[in-house]
Amino acid sequence: MNRTAPPAVELDGVTRRYGETTAVSDLSLSIQDGEFFTLVGPSGCGKTTTLRLIAGFEDPTQGEVRFGGTSATGVPPEDRDVGVVFQNYALFPHMTVGENIAYGLSFTDPPGGGSDEARVRELLELVDLGGMADRDPDTLSGGQQQRVAMARALAPGPDVLLLDEPMSALDAKLRERLRVQVREIQQELGITTIYVTHDQEEALAVSDRVAVMRDGTPEQVAPPRTIYREPATEFVATFVGDNNVLSGAVTAVRSTDDVGDSGAESGQPIADVTVDGTTLAVALEGDGDPATVSSGDQLTFCVRPERLAVDADRNALTATVTSAEFLGETTRVHLDWKGRELLLRAEDPPTGTVTVGFAPTDTHIVDRQS
Ligand code: ATP
Repeated sequence: MNRTAPPAVELDGVTRRYGETTAVSDLSLSIQDGEFFTLVGPSGCGKTTTLRLIAGFEDPTQGEVRFGGTSATGVPPEDRDVGVVFQNYALFPHMTVGENIAYGLSFTDPPGGGSDEARVRELLELVDLGGMADRDPDTLSGGQQQRVAMARALAPGPDVLLLDEPMSALDAKLRERLRVQVREIQQELGITTIYVTHDQEEALAVSDRVAVMRDGTPEQVAPPRTIYREPATEFVATFVGDNNVLSGAVTAVRSTDDVGDSGAESGQPIADVTVDGTTLAVALEGDGDPATVSSGDQLTFCVRPERLAVDADRNALTATVTSAEFLGETTRVHLDWKGRELLLRAEDPPTGTVTVGFAPTDTHIVDRQS
């Protein structure tokens, strides 16, 4: 990634309305050259519309899309140097695999000269389908067909690859395999890629950066680790992975020195937050936490289920197990604590009444109201 060059793709205050509906609202994003950038969010949050605005299938109601610093306003899709793969990969059934890919070439000369045939062979190798040029699409598996669609989109050597839910028609295991392949192909080519999915796990797994979208705007744009560990809002905290969200009034702010083994560094400030009559210690000034918190503030913080420990004495909550889902390597345990649902991850799931606790530093603050 070259951070001094203009962004490969830029959306500057882009809004797209359809009558009364605002599909995308004042969206600004800068996507760097070579970046794998993912738009994730619930159905209807504007992911596909954003991709279509970049591809040029839609025009912004307001704002501007730019490629390499140059405005794309008025530039039709075929002149945008983007390759697009849609959910329904729609290969031409009456053409062979090789002809399908060559179709992608028919708009341009093959990059770097050479013959169409050599380029098709090269693309088939790239997507790990070497030797399949003469097959009919309907003799391929869904995953193979989707890789042909990708090869076809890549054939003209576009600057930017746009992928709209390319795996949603495939089964879970195949999706996992294919997402690794997509990432590998992207890395091999170093191609700027914008990926749309509603699957938050997929987004975390493949991306350099993720935009978590809600109602046409991003709630957070950050690398996957930051999205998971330091969610900017309650929406991000609960949309991406499981989370326990707790909210209460700050009754004191003090230093860790007087609370003993909290897991926090000595001298790190701690807020006592009273949640439904129970006082919990929350470390302040963790990554992304607000710098100033004072008594009387209302704090909303979250604790990941894998951070809750059974029989812990810090921040102990006595809860009742309501159900458990066996997931293989771990079990997701649903707890009832004072009428709230809490989630716990455990190898050996408890039953009945259980005390769970967490270190003050295992919290992350998502909201503060003074
Ligand atoms: P999904 O994950 O379900 O595909 P999405 O996040 O991709 O959803 P969009 O398809 O971008 O969401 O749609 C955003 C909003 O804009 C929705 O409310 C949708 O109904 C509306 N919308 C999208 N395209 C049109 C259109 N051509 N005409 C009218 N409304 C539209």
